[in-house]
Amino acid sequence: MRLFSNAVVRTFAPQAASNTPASTASDPSASNSDTPAAAPTSTVDFMQPAPDAILVDGETIVAVGTRAELLDIAAAQSSTTAALASAGGVGATTVIPGLEIDEIDCGGQVILPGFVDGHIHSIMYADSLTDLDLSQTKSLAEAVALIRERADSLPVGTWVVGSGWDLNKWEDPSYPDRTLLDEIVPDHPVAMWSLDLHTLWANAHALEIAGIDEATPDPSGGSFVRDDDGQLTGLVREDATDLVARFIPEPSREEQVERLATTQELFLSQGLTGIHDFDGIAATLGWNDLHEAGRQDMRVTLFLRSPEVPWAIETGWHTGDGDDWLQCGGLKLFSDGALGSHTSHMSSPFPETDGETENFGIAQMTEDELFEQAHIATEAGISVAIHAIGDQANHHVLEVFDRLRDITRAAEEKFDRPMRHRVEHAQFIQPSDVARFAELGVLASMQPRHCISDLHLLHLIDESAQLAAYAWPDLLAAGAQVVFGSDGPVE
Ligand SMILES: [Zn+2]
Repeated sequence: MRLFSNAVVRTFAPQAASNTPASTASDPSASNSDTPAAAPTSTVDFMQPAPDAILVDGETIVAVGTRAELLDIAAAQSSTTAALASAGGVGATTVIPGLEIDEIDCGGQVILPGFVDGHIHSIMYADSLTDLDLSQTKSLAEAVALIRERADSLPVGTWVVGSGWDLNKWEDPSYPDRTLLDEIVPDHPVAMWSLDLHTLWANAHALEIAGIDEATPDPSGGSFVRDDDGQLTGLVREDATDLVARFIPEPSREEQVERLATTQELFLSQGLTGIHDFDGIAATLGWNDLHEAGRQDMRVTLFLRSPEVPWAIETGWHTGDGDDWLQCGGLKLFSDGALGSHTSHMSSPFPETDGETENFGIAQMTEDELFEQAHIATEAGISVAIHAIGDQANHHVLEVFDRLRDITRAAEEKFDRPMRHRVEHAQFIQPSDVARFAELGVLASMQPRHCISDLHLLHLIDESAQLAAYAWPDLLAAGAQVVFGSDGPVE
């Protein structure tokens, strides 16, 4: 057992009694918003002595309380109290007959429960640690100069990949195009993701490698932006980005695992002990390798993408399967795009930009298409998490979950487990839809950080539209469950 003492112990459960024994250290299926129910302590009652220690046995918190109380509990469990008198000594390892306690002196620091990030992208995060970061650029010229600098450090002809550009932060907030890239970096294929990862800015070299030219039709759910003469501008949106991104060489599996291990260290250093990972099969393989090598040090719940569903069904992948460390989550589908890229699906149009008129955003999948995919997954015992940012997208997604009610109930019975569907982001909601999250038992998976970073995008929202925006207080008041995450590395 280990005793962490001389600490200020905080939990997120002000209603729970102090010094309540036995609670598992972390519930892998729960995120921050729903961990408190079984959490063991509180310091809110000032008549009680504040807990200053935690007694831990393996992965289990045995009790939280004062050091003296916990030594009593430890001694009782060891069937002798004889050695209690010798317990103590800051930083010392205290030995009780039949029971070894490592006492760790926390030096008065605050101990918080581990954070679970309800929506993060581990593989993209790993990539972002090696890719070019354009998030601090203030102009197109600055971004292009950084791309040239990176290209110079690589052999001619290799891909230059980066992310983070945000025209809304540039001096001249016009969309970039390939003209300047073609002129300054003609000797490398270039692919730069926008901050929200919904738009790819590519040069002619990259488009050529991908076999995309003026005659290439737009795929459904995405587009190759063209100028008035029908020439490709180099901007690629939503599902069309896959047609370019698939030519970017991937790291080997070994490299990927090492990158993931580095990313895990970073997450742990920031207090994360669990994540809900939305990077599909690449993350699944990476975490599996770490798990098998005994190198997985945080709890991970995995979400798949739609092309992976046949594989999931064939291999019998069901939501909730796995162990305490690595668990099957659900299927992630996309209803729309993102606000910054003007691709979130809204009920009223975006203001005109660069000749775009009557742009209501993009419905990546129709309501019927979403229903069809969600139906297949749910019937196979896989819950569904649907990305929806615009109010119209959220409306469609709630309709889908409404239509899925009976199928969901049948799957819960068949697989003997809860199937909790989720909406990812739920940024703009029609006021009449707020209560439906609670009625349908759908989790709202939200990222408070988006609210701050979207402040400069408010001009994109039609002022006359009645919208509940970033409305977690309204959702909570309506009885809905809210899950918080970062959406890293997007933020
Ligand atoms: Zn995301």
